Amino acid sequence: MVIVGGSLAGHHAAACLRGLGFDGSLVVLGDERHRPYDRYPLSKGFLTGETQRRELDVAGEVPDVVRRLGARATGVDLAGRAVVVEDGNGSSSTDWSSLQGPTARRGLGGPGPGRLGAADPRGRHQAPGPLRAPARRVVVVGGGLIGAEVAATAVEHGHHTTIVDPSDVPTGRTLGRAVAEHLLTLHRAAGIDVRPRTRVRDLETSGRLVRGVTLDDGTRLPADLVVMATGTQPNVEWLDGSGLRLADGLDCRATLHAVGSDRVVGAGDVFRAPHPLLGGESVRMEHWASTRRQAALAAENMLGGPASARPLTELPEFGTTIHGARIRAVGFPQLADRGRVVWAPSRTEPRWCDSFADRPRSRPSR
Ligand SMILES: Cc1cc2nc3c(=O)[nH]c(=O)nc-3n(C[C@H](O)[C@H](O)[C@H](O)COP(=O)(O)OP(=O)(O)OC[C@H]3O[C@@H](n4cnc5c(N)ncnc54)[C@H](O)[C@@H]3O)c2cc1C
Repeated sequence: MVIVGGSLAGHHAAACLRGLGFDGSLVVLGDERHRPYDRYPLSKGFLTGETQRRELDVAGEVPDVVRRLGARATGVDLAGRAVVVEDGNGSSSTDWSSLQGPTARRGLGGPGPGRLGAADPRGRHQAPGPLRAPARRVVVVGGGLIGAEVAATAVEHGHHTTIVDPSDVPTGRTLGRAVAEHLLTLHRAAGIDVRPRTRVRDLETSGRLVRGVTLDDGTRLPADLVVMATGTQPNVEWLDGSGLRLADGLDCRATLHAVGSDRVVGAGDVFRAPHPLLGGESVRMEHWASTRRQAALAAENMLGGPASARPLTELPEFGTTIHGARIRAVGFPQLADRGRVVWAPSRTEPRWCDSFADRPRSRPSR
């Protein structure tokens, strides 16, 4: 069995395969040189140095696994049952699953994320604690959940912080409008300069340093640090021409088997599959808890085969803390018919609450 992607989904799938009694050869290919690590601190405590590198490591060893770090899958031969890795050596197998993660989305005319003082919060290779430095001007490009976490962390540590986002209400697509509007209020109360309905057109750089950003209306914002939080795109280019269907990631059936092969399953941020709550519409879920559940189901269904496979029915679930307020979501808050913010008696911490549609329905188009 070959698992492509050596982080959360890959590690958990390997652990589940062994836990379910799979005693065949198990190879995990990971193009990063790190052992599996959790990403959620990267937009929170890791930015300020409060969370150290060693604390990111995913707990638990998986017995008898060949872990190939720094090995990138570049192709797959479905008929020959082989995955090709970057060094050109084929890695043959009798069965294999595909579980690999997304890459940060690029989109600016300037240099890509991760260079020139622009931090890409997806990578552990970034220096820990970039927000520990004295107060600086921080521009966060993208006001979704990760951008919101980064901005809240930055402003809390005394940085002059701006969020630039093209939508009316950043995070509305993830949290639903009512909660997103409340979060916007919290951002502004904390002192963040939120620029909705605005895009960054360009990065201004000098040598290896970033100097600022230019907005689409021509406004220039000086910056000492620019954080790209513009979302991800599934890392599936290497599957082009393989016979597997690619559509906003690896297209899978409800059992997580890939469309086009019963020998491939998907789990984690990279795949999409139909969800019953969406009336069978396919969706990608990019959440920590969902990833672990999908990895467990993918392992079970890979071993059992499609005939006895269970469909994915669990609701997506995520949690985070922003400006000290805890957010927990189960399901698809963006589909809520109604939304409201429910305050705890002390009003120090609101309990955010969205009402859900009673029956399956389609998502509104983006
Ligand atoms: C900054 C940040 C903050 C987050 N915060 C939260 C949070 O608060 N709550 C929450 O629920 N979720 C959060 N998430 C989401 C959560 O971390 C992801 O859902 C989870 O990491 C998905 O795991 P994964 O294994 O599918 O993908 P990843 O963790 O991205 O791992 C995929 C791995 O596959 C490798 N890979 C890709 N292509 C190849 C290839 N061709 N060959 C070999 N290897 C390959 C990648 O390099 C990577 O190591 C956050 C994510 C980020 C980035």
